[in-house]
Amino acid sequence: MGRPLSVNCPPALRRAATSLLCLMAVASAVPVAAPAHAQDDPAQNVIRDTEVEQYLKDQTRPVLSAAGLDPDKVHYLLIASDDLNAFSTFHLIIGLNTGLIMEADTPNQLFGVIAHETGHLSGGHMMRTDEVERAARMPMVVALGLGIVAMAARAPDAGAVLMGSSTTFGTLNALHYMQTEESAADVAGAKAMEKANMSGKGLVDFFYKFRNVETFSHAERYEFFRTHPLSRDRISALNDFVRKQPHYNVTDSPESMAKFAIIKAKLAGFMNDPIKTFNMYPASDTSYPARYARVIATYKQGNWDKALSQLDDLLKEQPDNPYLWELKGQIYFETARPALAKPAHEKSVELMPTAALLQLNLGQTLIALGDKDSLNEAVQHLQESVKYEEDDSFAWSQLAQAYDALKQPGLARLATAEAQFYDGDYMSARSSAVWSQKYLTANSPEYRRARDIVMATSSELGIAPVDGETRRKRN
Ligand SMILES: [Zn+2]
Repeated sequence: MGRPLSVNCPPALRRAATSLLCLMAVASAVPVAAPAHAQDDPAQNVIRDTEVEQYLKDQTRPVLSAAGLDPDKVHYLLIASDDLNAFSTFHLIIGLNTGLIMEADTPNQLFGVIAHETGHLSGGHMMRTDEVERAARMPMVVALGLGIVAMAARAPDAGAVLMGSSTTFGTLNALHYMQTEESAADVAGAKAMEKANMSGKGLVDFFYKFRNVETFSHAERYEFFRTHPLSRDRISALNDFVRKQPHYNVTDSPESMAKFAIIKAKLAGFMNDPIKTFNMYPASDTSYPARYARVIATYKQGNWDKALSQLDDLLKEQPDNPYLWELKGQIYFETARPALAKPAHEKSVELMPTAALLQLNLGQTLIALGDKDSLNEAVQHLQESVKYEEDDSFAWSQLAQAYDALKQPGLARLATAEAQFYDGDYMSARSSAVWSQKYLTANSPEYRRARDIVMATSSELGIAPVDGETRRKRN
């Protein structure tokens, strides 16, 4: 399973590296630097997964375009939480809790909620500025792979290393849209769905379903309805509107339903207790999603070999599925068998070379192998990874580790500076960049990059840039 979420931030954002979402890194089993808001609840974390992200990107292109947004500029942020919530925020970020995806009955319901969120984005319904600013200043948002979340669930102590974004998202969650904005987002969302040849019915169904649950159970977990206040009048107005649309009766295609079932099964496998997964997907269900969910639950239970053997059965049927190879690599890697993880991750990379997270998995595995050839290969794959997601601080820190092991201190310090920069730790980034210049050839591209980091961080910190040359002489 993947790690970081690509938030290919616009340059302006990068400069303000406060940009909460640009700073996505990935937690390894080792804490990077415990931030003040570290917390123990692994259920409140930003997670990354190539398969889920790719699904959202591919499937929502029509509705995003119809909403007047550039699908390539919209980023999904997946929050590992059973709370039902979705939000949209500056820089075209749409946040979705895993719980919301899992509880949507159909793709149409999920896309309806996303369309509603696009209504907030295109309507410019910004959350209150001061709170957004505060959230944006949170220095570090760590994204975890689904597998890491699963591991933490097995070992409660590992919770401490899961650096939370809950404060940040807690802040965002606490923000409310106004009723007028909600109604406007409903209509904008319904229009976008119609324009994308989809029915707006899903959104209405979703509202009714959870409105009822919420009313009768006093369910506090339906955060969505706190941030997006829902009234009976509002639902019925939306219902009246969507019923009149020409595509009201359009339903999800079997193909779309099948893809959605895979995503739900995967999330259930990783997020739920294995017992719950086995209940939801009993052995009698021999569909692909059910078997996929059971492999993950079996792995989560610690039955590695059984999980691997079931996974091999799936791979026999779908030898070109990069996510199955990724899962296989992950299971081997997490059970300290990097030599076996390597060919699996290589296969996933071969099938999907532009996926930053898959490159990262392979790079990490090669570092674990530790010999010189593997380390050199690791560098190549990690460089590929940061080429596609240059703000992934975890990938940069892995790159630093590989360079260190190869005894290339200049490049190692520079990669560390990059990691710190994208983590928003300007002070450390500045000092690492200055340090790297000591080892780098003057005026090489790497040297110049180090100088850029010194300049950018100095300006951000409001202090005079230190030239590596000065430092060198002083030493
Ligand atoms: Zn809303």
